[in-house]
Amino acid sequence: MKLRDNARFSTVCIHAGQEPDPSTGAIITPIYQTSTYVQEALGRHKGYEYGRTHNPTRSALEANLAAIENGRAAFAFASGMAATGAVMTLLKAGDHVVVTDNTYGGTYRLFERVLRKYELDFTYVDTSDLQAIEAAIRPATRMLFLETPTNPTLRLTDLGASCQIAHAHDVIVVVDNTFASPAIQRPIDFGADIVVHSTTKFLNGHSDSVGGIVVAVRDVHIEWLKFVQNAEGAILGPMDSWLVLRGTKTLPIRMERHNANTQVLAEYLAGHPKVSRVHYPGLPTHPQHALACRQMKGFGGLISFELGSLERARTLLDSVRLMALAESLGGVETLISHPASMTHASVPPERRLQIGLTEDMVRVSVGIEDVDDLKEDLAQALERV
Ligand SMILES: *Cc1c(COP(=O)(O)O)cnc(C)c1O
Repeated sequence: MKLRDNARFSTVCIHAGQEPDPSTGAIITPIYQTSTYVQEALGRHKGYEYGRTHNPTRSALEANLAAIENGRAAFAFASGMAATGAVMTLLKAGDHVVVTDNTYGGTYRLFERVLRKYELDFTYVDTSDLQAIEAAIRPATRMLFLETPTNPTLRLTDLGASCQIAHAHDVIVVVDNTFASPAIQRPIDFGADIVVHSTTKFLNGHSDSVGGIVVAVRDVHIEWLKFVQNAEGAILGPMDSWLVLRGTKTLPIRMERHNANTQVLAEYLAGHPKVSRVHYPGLPTHPQHALACRQMKGFGGLISFELGSLERARTLLDSVRLMALAESLGGVETLISHPASMTHASVPPERRLQIGLTEDMVRVSVGIEDVDDLKEDLAQALERV
């Protein structure tokens, strides 16, 4: 069961980082639910000393995700936010970061409410505009923090072009790849230095674990991240590592179905008289459809659409039966939400308008159910609008 260097994506997802368990031959990496390891003699051990520093289940997941994202090493954290928090320790007081303006709300909160206290400075720009990125870079800029597609307006950033701009100024590029997943886009292939994920979403894929991962390529970053993972200690536990490891095995086929279902619903909604606007990179009407075709393999499982008023959005959300009203995304089951009052409630109204997040907008994380059942559910709910 040796994985060849040229193994293809689905094969890598299933096998990378995973050897039959050395003590029993178990094909699935066991959940090593232990805090410490017995040492044979003073100074003689098997590479494992203490559970915060080393855990075989976590190591297997880290090797698996490093391969999946085409990085050189990965580090698993207790949540997506813990992962991003660890990445930001690469910076020091006085450093400046350029950030996608429509970044995940928790990322914005971490940067503004926590990291500003440590004298890091942030500028938020529409990174779909390459000139805006270039214009925001200053002598103190050390990092470009990108998210593409964004939530919930599904705006894209050109990864290759923005990496070129950043690197020309000696600025490292970090990409939050949670929304796309590596089955759809691999930022490192476009030049990114670091990728972060909330594994809570598509990577785990079954809505039963919270976690995060950082994937890196450069030695200095790898060394520091390994150090800080142990020093700060916000590690992913063995049970959650095992769940995500199970999730990544089916990532490629899950994403295929997410993509296919979402495309069908996007086209259905775009042709519906009660829907005023649909945001989905897979529709030719999406302003960056050409970029999506170049940069993404499939257009993802997230869609948002506008219904004309808050009242109409509320009626739809109250009328769906199969789709569950809930935050989060990326699971096998379809979730529907109202970003303005749920995920983005803490974003000031004027900022929401700036990023195109309107009150009548509904977001769906399309699951992998039979698409006809999903369509019928939307149809009966739209009838009541
Ligand atoms: C959910 C999410 C996060 C945060 O991840 P947690 O696991 O909830 O801490 C970060 N970025 C994006 C894009 C997300 O969707």
